[in-house]
Amino acid sequence: MVRADDGEQGGAGADHHGRERRYESRHRIQMIDYTMMGKPLKEAQGEIVYSASFLEWFAEEARRIYGDVIPASAKDRRVLVLKQPVGVAAIITPWNFPSAMITRKVGAALAAGCTVVVKPAEDTPLSALALGELANQAGIPAGVYNVVPCSRQQTAAVGEVLCTDPLVSKISFTGSTATGKILLKHAAGTVKRVSMELGGHAPFIVFDSADVDRAVAGALASKYRNSGQTCVCTNRFLVQKGIHDEFVEKFAKAIKKELHVGNGFDAKTTQGPLINEKAVEKVEKHIKDAVSQGASIVTGGKRHSLGKNFFEPTLLSNVTTKMLCTQEETFGPLAPVIKFETEAEAVAIANAANVGLAGYFYSQDPAQIWRVAEQLEVGMVGVNEGIISSVECPFGGVKESGLGREGSKYGIDEYLEIKYVCIGGL
Ligand code: NAP
Repeated sequence: MVRADDGEQGGAGADHHGRERRYESRHRIQMIDYTMMGKPLKEAQGEIVYSASFLEWFAEEARRIYGDVIPASAKDRRVLVLKQPVGVAAIITPWNFPSAMITRKVGAALAAGCTVVVKPAEDTPLSALALGELANQAGIPAGVYNVVPCSRQQTAAVGEVLCTDPLVSKISFTGSTATGKILLKHAAGTVKRVSMELGGHAPFIVFDSADVDRAVAGALASKYRNSGQTCVCTNRFLVQKGIHDEFVEKFAKAIKKELHVGNGFDAKTTQGPLINEKAVEKVEKHIKDAVSQGASIVTGGKRHSLGKNFFEPTLLSNVTTKMLCTQEETFGPLAPVIKFETEAEAVAIANAANVGLAGYFYSQDPAQIWRVAEQLEVGMVGVNEGIISSVECPFGGVKESGLGREGSKYGIDEYLEIKYVCIGGL
């Protein structure tokens, strides 16, 4: 276990040059995580700013953990509500946001008064350790922020210990729905508090009334960020008949013009490699299945000439709901387009999923905007916006996409217990 006081050059009292050296080494090791996972430099820098925003936000929220005074039903009583930290929080995070998925949880946990044990993903463990060094520099007491990196062979065992140990009061997990279900079963034995940020299958609906150019810009951002490897990335496009051909043509043009696969340190690069061979195989499998059932490849469709885990940003048309890519999360740079006729049909397709994290739609019709925003079975809706995550807003899903919310004024509640105190005999 790495504790927050295990920094290689001592605690918070180190000199200016020591601090700079440590800053540089932290920066370097975080870069290794991003290099390992293939996130282009610009996106990696964006993630660092996003991660820091959770620490700033929750540092402020700590000052607003208000209790309550409730008017009592009996004259000789006074009734109070106190909010208290839940206790030790175990935090298990994925590789696709090696920093932000940690700070979004740890910021809230520390602000609530909890200590944390972080188990980062095997593919990107260094950011969690670099954050430990930052915790030292910030003067976080020893033992408050703890990291347990482990090999994939040990992951299940470590996960089980964290989720069953009676000393741990809270599990906060971000990752796949399949893993989330395993952890929920473990946590049930000691009835722990849980927060689950699980997989998505985001629909992106473009209605006839949409501003097509705006929809194309949103589609590009929402689908291909992090090469399609975010839980809120669009997984299926639903485009209304009247606007379908124009949307597909403009989307294909934008993909070819604006997306650049390559070395993440090259300023032009927007698409790095996928995380591993298995991820590439899943994209290939979804494309093969769709094409075998009649889908057309509009652009892309195969491994990129750069080799290894690089894949061409791909757009498919003539897609139906029978195809695998519209039934499960691809988690890669594949955009399948389904043509639909009516609003009711689009909403029914969008909601025919056992998960519900994010959903997007484009419309210029105010009545339709209200109707569809209310009907979509997801935790987060982007209306005429393809990128919607921010620290002030509650992040989380419904159905099998999870339990609880992160960020925003609600995020801190996940780490607080409500205690009712009744003082009698007054
Ligand atoms: P994953 O396989 O579930 O892994 C996530 C984390 O769980 C990793 O640290 C992993 O460790 C660990 N893990 C795996 N099996 C475990 C077990 N039996 N016990 C304890 N820990 C275990 O997820 P992934 O495939 O890496 O990440 C992609 C998924 O995460 C997608 O489905 C995506 O939608 C979802 N996600 C959701 C959100 C959200 O906020 N809702 C955000 C980002 C990603 P190892 O690395 O050692 O395997």
